[in-house]
Amino acid sequence: MEYATLNTGAKMPLEGFGVFQIPDAAECEQVTYNAIKTGYRLIDTAAAYQNEEAVGKAVARAIADGLTTREELFITTKVWVLDQKTEDTAYQAVKTSLAKLNLPYADLILLHQPMGDYFAAYRGIEKAYRDGLTKAIGVANFYPGVLTNFCETVEIKPAVNQVELHPFFAQEKAVENMKAYGVVPQAWGPLAEGKHGIFTDPELTAIGKKYGKSAAQVVLRWNAQRGVSIIPKSVHEERMKRNFDIWDFSLTEEEMTKVAAKDLGHSEIVNHDDPMFVKYCVGAATNF
Ligand code: NAP
Repeated sequence: MEYATLNTGAKMPLEGFGVFQIPDAAECEQVTYNAIKTGYRLIDTAAAYQNEEAVGKAVARAIADGLTTREELFITTKVWVLDQKTEDTAYQAVKTSLAKLNLPYADLILLHQPMGDYFAAYRGIEKAYRDGLTKAIGVANFYPGVLTNFCETVEIKPAVNQVELHPFFAQEKAVENMKAYGVVPQAWGPLAEGKHGIFTDPELTAIGKKYGKSAAQVVLRWNAQRGVSIIPKSVHEERMKRNFDIWDFSLTEEEMTKVAAKDLGHSEIVNHDDPMFVKYCVGAATNF
């Protein structure tokens, strides 16, 4: 396992475990516990995932069972758009998330989308940071122009920007821009949520064969090797183990370039420029 150093000086595991789309509380608790048992130390949840309580229970159980310590763990959660209204709504959202997680502090709090009054909301999480409610703060889905304006404006620069990053949406320039601001890029959907035949892609499979690895392991390794943190999700123990088994091989320069060449230049998962998606997130539409 490797670590990224945040602009706070804290170390963040380069690989973590995401818990999006595990709405069942009992399942989420068990899956999160299994992930910690497997070796994952970073858990990525969000108020919007409605499973912070389950994550908190898994963390408490893993610590009680001696699998890990709170200090070893890195817990991320996110403030949802509807709480990105004022400094106070965001600050209160952090407190609500911590109560659900049953933790006195988080390691990272992110604004989930550049929507609502995200500057005011960011001041709320800056206050949470100053008050010791979180060890670091950051953003998610801040695309290059938005992130640039933001970093040039805010008092405390975001430690992390979590955006969609995988071979089919490589966003190399966006990653460079984050690094220029000292913002650690973190990949959501590092397995492209299974889209575009990623698990059976012949070229990715051929690259993996040389190392006894799968296409999934190749794409996770590719992101990690370019300094991008990854948070794959799987409810299956075997898959979560394999997704974590990427630290004993390296891709060559040529292989890195081959994987990056798969870039389509756009997302096949979500379009943040789609007004209907934005309306949905801010609560002005029921679907998109
Ligand atoms: P992902 O990790 O790219 O893909 C997860 C999907 O791949 C699941 O359907 C999973 O199925 C399957 N899978 C995982 N490993 C596999 C393997 N080795 N072989 C075959 N199938 C495999 O997608 P994601 O969950 O959207 O993204 C990861 C995390 O990023 C989320 O959990 C969440 O924490 C975060 N996220 C953040 C945002 C944001 O806006 N900030 C958005 C999306 C996600 P099974 O579970 O059935 O194995």
